Amino acid sequence: MRSAMGRQSSSSFSSASSSSSSSSYYFSSSFISWRESLIFLVVLMLGLMCCPPLVLSSSDDLTGGTSASGSRDLHFGDHDLPSYDYGKHGHDWPGVCTDPKSRFQSPLDVNVWKVARVQDLGDLRPRADYPRVKGEVSLFHNGRTFEMALDGANTMQLPMFDVEPYNFSTSWSAKSYIPQAGGYGGIDVVSRTYYLKQCHFHMHSETAVQGKYFDLQMHCVHALKGPHKAPSHGVWGVFFKRGYYSFWDTCNPVLDRVFAALPALARKKPFEILRLDMRGFSLSQLLPEDGTYLHYYPGSLTTPPCTEGLLWYFFSKPLPICARQVNLISDFIYKLNGQGNMNFRELQPLNDRVVYAWGDPKSGQSRISED
Ligand SMILES: [Zn+2]
Repeated sequence: MRSAMGRQSSSSFSSASSSSSSSSYYFSSSFISWRESLIFLVVLMLGLMCCPPLVLSSSDDLTGGTSASGSRDLHFGDHDLPSYDYGKHGHDWPGVCTDPKSRFQSPLDVNVWKVARVQDLGDLRPRADYPRVKGEVSLFHNGRTFEMALDGANTMQLPMFDVEPYNFSTSWSAKSYIPQAGGYGGIDVVSRTYYLKQCHFHMHSETAVQGKYFDLQMHCVHALKGPHKAPSHGVWGVFFKRGYYSFWDTCNPVLDRVFAALPALARKKPFEILRLDMRGFSLSQLLPEDGTYLHYYPGSLTTPPCTEGLLWYFFSKPLPICARQVNLISDFIYKLNGQGNMNFRELQPLNDRVVYAWGDPKSGQSRISED
């Protein structure tokens, strides 16, 4: 996925930024002796050891805000990241995203014969509440993909398996989040509301199923509001594929509405907002109706800094897309990333994780308000 962390994570990012800025000041100052410099450096390192920066700092892939009218919300964090480039760095980022402590990275290749089935969670199943758009949506590109943010509150309820202690370090246990076989073993299962930050697209899909990619994958990034111990971000992944349901090339009318902005968006500078009339659109129109999906696995951002601590949910069945639409979005992504360089990260090892499959025919349905 691309990044887009929520407001609550911006504070942790700010503190990390201030640390680095103070150290750069220190090294550039000619008024400080080497002895004082050494003491300062030791104090700084001790401080960092005591107070490691929280995971889930802002990053590019999670860029975005729920309020499209507040354009600054749409791209905080992105400018602060070290630049990365699929054309220059390939489809992974050695030295940035290869921390040996990072064991739960995304994306994954899902073996459907090895997923663990989850029993019905009843009212705790994920629910989306994506009201119809009353006017325009905000689009911008960041040089790698484009993002779409919606005005107002767009939320999803996600079941949380809240096992103490939740650990925001890069070494947290995947077992903290997964449903337990044969019931939940006394673990409190609660549902929490996550707020949509933005949706963006990867081509081809980042996630693979049985070693096969899909033509396109949409990631919709959601974040908790306020203080929390639960994983702060959850992401829907929706696949799009040609010829999955029909021999005929079936275009997706909802994608057509969004993709209509691509030619104009390609001429915009990075992060320059383009407003697109999407009256009547609901994000629910870009979720598979039958609600079957591979539920969830703990993972990471798929762009630097590849922060762990995200919950990944994705639908197992793709939505249709046609050749014309594939060409339209691939032209756009090629323009941003260079010919032949699509915007997906390499597959990452599963390590100790389990991907949980959850087939609930009601889970993909959403309440769409009619106003
Ligand atoms: Zn993404």
